[in-house]
Amino acid sequence: MWVPELLCPAGSLEKLKVATLYGADAVYLGGQKFGLRQASENFTPDELFEGIEFAHKHGTKTYVVLNSFLHDKDLEELPEFLHDLEALNTDAVIVSDLGVIETIKKHVKIPIHLSTQASCLNIEAAKLWKKMGATRVVLGREVTIKEAKKIKEATGLEMEMFVHGSMCMAYSGNCVISNYTQGRDSNRGGCAHSCRFEYSIDFLNDVKNAESEQAQKMRNAYFMSSKDLEGVRVLEEFIHAGIDSLKIEGRNKSHHYAGTVAKVYSEALSFYKTHGHFVSTNILQWETELRKLAHRDYTTASLIESADHTSIYDEREHDENDYVVSGVVMDVVANKGIVMEVRSAFHPNDELEIMTFKGETKTLKLPWVKTLSEKPIERSKPGFLVMVPFVEGVERFNIIRHKNQKNESMKKVESHYV
Ligand code: SF4
Repeated sequence: MWVPELLCPAGSLEKLKVATLYGADAVYLGGQKFGLRQASENFTPDELFEGIEFAHKHGTKTYVVLNSFLHDKDLEELPEFLHDLEALNTDAVIVSDLGVIETIKKHVKIPIHLSTQASCLNIEAAKLWKKMGATRVVLGREVTIKEAKKIKEATGLEMEMFVHGSMCMAYSGNCVISNYTQGRDSNRGGCAHSCRFEYSIDFLNDVKNAESEQAQKMRNAYFMSSKDLEGVRVLEEFIHAGIDSLKIEGRNKSHHYAGTVAKVYSEALSFYKTHGHFVSTNILQWETELRKLAHRDYTTASLIESADHTSIYDEREHDENDYVVSGVVMDVVANKGIVMEVRSAFHPNDELEIMTFKGETKTLKLPWVKTLSEKPIERSKPGFLVMVPFVEGVERFNIIRHKNQKNESMKKVESHYV
């Protein structure tokens, strides 16, 4: 059975490797200039070389983001970077600015994907972008899957849609709240997610003067903060519509996120490829895994029907984070132990979960933790290499995690007072 490409974020070289090994068909990444997401650890020229080579060696495509809106002085430096990307066999570039598209066409022959930042929502716009040279359109998040199918049929262009991740309340970045409130330009990669903050409504006298709890809630609210997108339950609609690529948002997110979303969605798509349906209890398992990531409540946003007030996450600003990464497997010594680089402290007797690249997560109840010279230790420290007991099937770069103790103790406190 045919299934779409799974396109995952690669905010750093490590995240690129993690996403690739956990099942991404393609990754998108940025160099140090020309792309949005200034906060992600964008790739140096050496890292671009290593990352693209690593991905290609594993059969994973690489798309480089050049989706900032540029001034003339920025454009002058672009051709040299484009020639570097062509020499690295980059599979495509993701672009929003017409000036960037013209520069690409003049200098190199790399396929052009239109960024969601260009907010392409209809057939006529897609036809025009095709004339301009785009081979694929990353549709605006406001487009439903049904509309996307029509755009694809009318244009013959490849269609890419978001399937998971944070949402933008504006037409994908066409917003200056962040510029005005934080001095950070959304359209040049600096978005501070100001729409997630608490705002006050101060225009109705009766609300303004009321003292009820409900009135207070209306005055101070997260009324622009969207829930996160989760499309695992509507994958079949994407497949039936022939959507070519399913994109996961989140270059700024953790490598735990990069690995988990790549694993969950690639397992789900592989399941369909083999069985031709999603009728399986695995769907609950996939959802459980996605809920282990830091997230706001999930929504399908506009994938089926246009998003409305039910897509707003109005409870609080912060993500929930039930799990933390204990570390990453650096080496496996058969029948002896696993060498891991510690990211968050843990102790002997803690229960760790090892996310293997495929199949069920393995649980490891720790009888001991040792240094590499085999001295027992009571508490692992972030940044150090430690040895934990051997587990069959574990591989280098597997992610190891444990429950977030802070959240657990908060939950105990909450339940005590309910
Ligand atoms: S502040 Fe919010 S609405 Fe504005 S660009 Fe950033 S994510 Fe989008």
